Amino acid sequence: MMKTASELVKGMPPYLFSALERKKAELVQKGIDVIDLGIGAPDLPPPPFVIDALKRELDDPRNYTYSPYAGCREYREAVAAFYKQQYGVELDPDTEVLALIGSKEGIVHLLQALIDPGDAVLIPNPGYPVYRTAVHLARGTPLELPLDAARDYAPQFSAVDPSTYDRINIMLLNYPSNPTASMATVDVFAEAVALANKHRFLIAHDSAYSLLTFGDVRAPGVLQVDGAKDVAVELGSLSKSYNMAGCRIGYIVGNRDVIRALAVLKGNIDTCQFLAVQKAAAAALRGGTEAAKGNSRIYEERMKAMTAALWKMGVPVRPPQATFFLWVPTAVGCSAAEFAARLLDEAGVIVTPGTAFGSGGEGYVRVSLAAPLERLLEAARRWAAIDWEGRS
Ligand SMILES: *Cc1c(COP(=O)(O)O)cnc(C)c1O
Repeated sequence: MMKTASELVKGMPPYLFSALERKKAELVQKGIDVIDLGIGAPDLPPPPFVIDALKRELDDPRNYTYSPYAGCREYREAVAAFYKQQYGVELDPDTEVLALIGSKEGIVHLLQALIDPGDAVLIPNPGYPVYRTAVHLARGTPLELPLDAARDYAPQFSAVDPSTYDRINIMLLNYPSNPTASMATVDVFAEAVALANKHRFLIAHDSAYSLLTFGDVRAPGVLQVDGAKDVAVELGSLSKSYNMAGCRIGYIVGNRDVIRALAVLKGNIDTCQFLAVQKAAAAALRGGTEAAKGNSRIYEERMKAMTAALWKMGVPVRPPQATFFLWVPTAVGCSAAEFAARLLDEAGVIVTPGTAFGSGGEGYVRVSLAAPLERLLEAARRWAAIDWEGRS
């Protein structure tokens, strides 16, 4: 019998954005000027020196062969040097670094490389939706790690039953966080590492926004904690820091047994990324964090302007120290989904309902700052004009 979809694919967690997307298409069709603040990709260009490096590598015919499975040595060395510089962490480029085709690919394959059907994985709520999908695709069981809104969305480790820690194989963390834009201190990672040692599970930390921090703020990494390599890996990406989202390049570093298992799985699936992209990414990492700081200054300026505009209309949003997201409390008596629907219907502004990131996102919407300042301010003007008390 021909099948057109497996039970696994049919059982994928629902894609909560599709209804909004349909509505957006409808409104655009009617000629309405829709402002999309739902986007999760940077609107800024990559640094010119990265584009130049990519052009040079494109001209080299040697780059058109298969890449080494784990990624080319130049890229793995650049990742290791970046970790030394940014975190003071030593990595062996041969055994503790693996190239990824973006960190999303890495997250999905990591779970398939590590867990067996029914194994439990702790995922942050609210959190990046890919974590839940990745657990589903590996036929695992997702369990929730609640984040504490009162403590800027730090993990509520004590809200999880100790027997759960004995049951899980992996705990996923993500700081600076999508969607809440919150940061973790190194103490949070130290607490996670202590728990992982005590209960023998792996920590996988997603550091996609590690370089998008404001002012002198620096985002710590989990491997900075003493002994973390015994129980942790960290995933990183050039998508957000260097605006290379379409290049599909990231990395995973840390525990060598975990990296070996992922390398075995991936070696049978994808044969890694185009060498020219890996070498341009190596150039980006060697170029230091200046380019990312330049991006961050732009996001910070937008963040301040948008926060001020929201405060003026009485919306108590907390100004974040990282990422290009604002995590905005919705009006009282209005669910996240209703709030987002009204913003789109009455103002032509798309934001993402917090519930797209889990039940912990109820009462919030995520506003992306990956749009020009004028568009953000225009969105705020239209938002302010809505009569939230009255009915539409
Ligand atoms: C954007 C994003 C990623 C995916 O990045 P890629 O490297 O482009 O796959 C991973 N994690 C989080 C939290 C993200 O927001």
